[in-house]
Amino acid sequence: MNRYVIAGNWKMNMTQGEVFNFSENYCINCDDSLNINVKKIICVSYPLLTYAMRELSGFGIDVGAQNVSEHSHGAYTGEVSAKILESVDVKYCIVGHSERRQYFGDTDEIIKQKWMQLRSERINPIICVGETLEERESNKTFDVIKRQIETIFKGVELKAGEDMMIAYEPVWAIGTGKTATPEIAQEVHKYIRELLVDIYGKHAGSIPLLYGGSVKPENIKELLEQDDINGALIGGASLDAKGYAEMVKVASETV
Ligand code: PEP
Repeated sequence: MNRYVIAGNWKMNMTQGEVFNFSENYCINCDDSLNINVKKIICVSYPLLTYAMRELSGFGIDVGAQNVSEHSHGAYTGEVSAKILESVDVKYCIVGHSERRQYFGDTDEIIKQKWMQLRSERINPIICVGETLEERESNKTFDVIKRQIETIFKGVELKAGEDMMIAYEPVWAIGTGKTATPEIAQEVHKYIRELLVDIYGKHAGSIPLLYGGSVKPENIKELLEQDDINGALIGGASLDAKGYAEMVKVASETV
């Protein structure tokens, strides 16, 4: 049983040579005997998927994708389907990251379609939700989260053994150095859990809820200690192998 999930999102960073360096550094800094109960995932850009799997699988790190097309196949130049991801053994994929929502027009409906594509190929989604600064400041956080969760999940029955994760990523905390306090993060995670229980009943209790937004080695422990935080989705700080190894270690030692 994995107590925590430590997922990295490398975004549009890292070349093949840098992945090699990451794996060399991770090897020097990790202590695998400590972290058998931590699920490690790193989501990389498409061209690096196979190479990163080769470099990182020996450390028990699963490699995931950062996006998928909402279409199954066809004339969509530049897009990548769930079937193509499955064909290169991808097991995880982020959907609905706020940068996709902000810059590429991903709506909750499109995110739902992307999840359905992943589902048909048995790829586990990491589905992101979260409010903008403006929404938080006008006290709309809970309305926004409710709308996102209900649009994406209502009407979809969970299959037995379906392995999905939800990441709460307040947009104002992504890449800004501003982390939600553990109390703010816990409050929203608890709300997400309640919404999921309304939709899925008691099965919702086992869906991992990850927090994302400027997580780093210095602040991960207090976040993981919250009752409804089951892991972290980490952008910038996951690019550094030593930092990633440190966060895995903290997760393995947090109860
Ligand atoms: C992210 O991109 O999912 C993220 C949380 O980024 P950062 O950790 O850099 O804020």
